Amino acid sequence: MNPYLIALYLLPVVGIFLWYVRTRRQREEASIRAAEEAIAASLTEPPSLHPVIDPNKCIGCRSCVAACPEQYAHAVLGMIRGKARLIGPSNCIGHGACEKACPVDAIQLVFGTVRRGVDIPLVNPDFQTNIPGIFIAGELGGMGLIRNAIEQGRQALESIEKLGGLRQPGQHDLVIVGAGPAGIAASLGAMKSKLDFVTLEQDSLGGTVAHFPRGKLVMTRPAILPIVGKMNFTDTSKEKLLEFWQGVEANTGLSIRYTERVTGINRAPDGASFEVLTTSAAYRTRAVLLTIGRRGTPRQLGVPGEELPKVVYRLIDPEQYKGQHVLVVGGGDSALEAAHSIAEQPGTTVTLSYRSAAFSRAKPKNRNKVAELELAGRMTVLMSSNVREIREDAVAIETESETVILPNNGVIVCAGGILPTGFLKDIGITVETKYGTA
Ligand SMILES: Cc1cc2nc3c(=O)[nH]c(=O)nc-3n(C[C@H](O)[C@H](O)[C@H](O)COP(=O)(O)OP(=O)(O)OC[C@H]3O[C@@H](n4cnc5c(N)ncnc54)[C@H](O)[C@@H]3O)c2cc1C
Ligand code: SF4
Repeated sequence: MNPYLIALYLLPVVGIFLWYVRTRRQREEASIRAAEEAIAASLTEPPSLHPVIDPNKCIGCRSCVAACPEQYAHAVLGMIRGKARLIGPSNCIGHGACEKACPVDAIQLVFGTVRRGVDIPLVNPDFQTNIPGIFIAGELGGMGLIRNAIEQGRQALESIEKLGGLRQPGQHDLVIVGAGPAGIAASLGAMKSKLDFVTLEQDSLGGTVAHFPRGKLVMTRPAILPIVGKMNFTDTSKEKLLEFWQGVEANTGLSIRYTERVTGINRAPDGASFEVLTTSAAYRTRAVLLTIGRRGTPRQLGVPGEELPKVVYRLIDPEQYKGQHVLVVGGGDSALEAAHSIAEQPGTTVTLSYRSAAFSRAKPKNRNKVAELELAGRMTVLMSSNVREIREDAVAIETESETVILPNNGVIVCAGGILPTGFLKDIGITVETKYGTA
């Protein structure tokens, strides 16, 4: 046979093989790097539902990596030594697409890990908790994702409608706590059923979605909203989804009481209804639907002046701080990202205050950015410091050696959240801690 002909046939095969080996090696290197970065930043615990991959069953087909909808933005799954691995656990939001994509059932979706349990309240199929009259829907019950939250909010309402003792004088039929996707759907359901209800929200419309990074690609599936009909989104942006919900709120006349946080729920003396206590009022109601998600309530500093309107717990728009003196408090990724995005605005003076001696909880990318801006004189970083007082036009910060008074126009506190477990237990709702089980 002609050796030139053999070479002609073999060359593309060898070329494809070399390309395959090179791509596989590059992917493995990137996966190892991402896994090491997650370990260095102590971001090794998935927040809730996540995959556990059985290496003995995994055949290394990479279908799970390709199926993960978050993969475009962060490393979540990767391939190491020919096997799939959860390399960015804290970036996993529990889409579950990997489990469906795996051809050999090597993936199981679980809550929590051996080291870190995840608290899931016990909820009946009709969404009622162990306390008759108190219902839970959405991510708080363990079922994450926007479409699931909407479906559950709508279905929970269908159960609540069937309760006895509704439409009594002197009390509401229902108090809905939280205006994320589950709370929006439930509120529209309550409107449709003409229930006497109130929806209370500690923050703003949209729940966790309102906290997504600007321009985040949101992957969801169509869902049915009462009154409105089909919410026909698949891939969209955070902004478009929020705009849609704002339109729904305006067009349906849905009334949500914002910046009102529920602080407790007690059984009323008649035993058949509840008293819902908030930061500004108390409501008597036959039923309560908790659609409060799992993010919790922002942790406050507990210092004088924290009630001033210039103090916020998340950065919405860095541009609003142009030309201002700003203090960012915290040492995690959200604090560092807020600080550097504000420092990039013209004419801002940014101070970042953190109570510990090192930013051990933040990603290297954010730590490096802050170090660069500090070196360039565009940001002041006060490690081992504590805010002592917030005044109209200044802040007092205690460092290891002195108390400094800085001019100030805005304070952003990114000190994490208080998880809802304590709140649920105080109400008497049974909570189960899952350590890596379904
Ligand atoms: C970074 C990230 C990216 C994500 N990307 C996607 C995606 O692409 N697609 C997708 O389907 N899902 C995504 N999710 C998941 C999705 O956002 C949640 O599953 C969904 O928002 C849950 O809806 P919910 O209504 O149950 O709770 P939430 O959206 O969390 O809403 C709960 C609301 O309750 C309020 N609340 C809490 N406590 C109180 C209180 N005591 N009093 C009054 N109000 C209270 C909160 O302020 C909040 O507004 C993502 C999540 C994260 C963190
Ligand atoms: S889809 Fe299943 S078999 Fe394929 S890489 Fe992922 S875990 Fe392994």
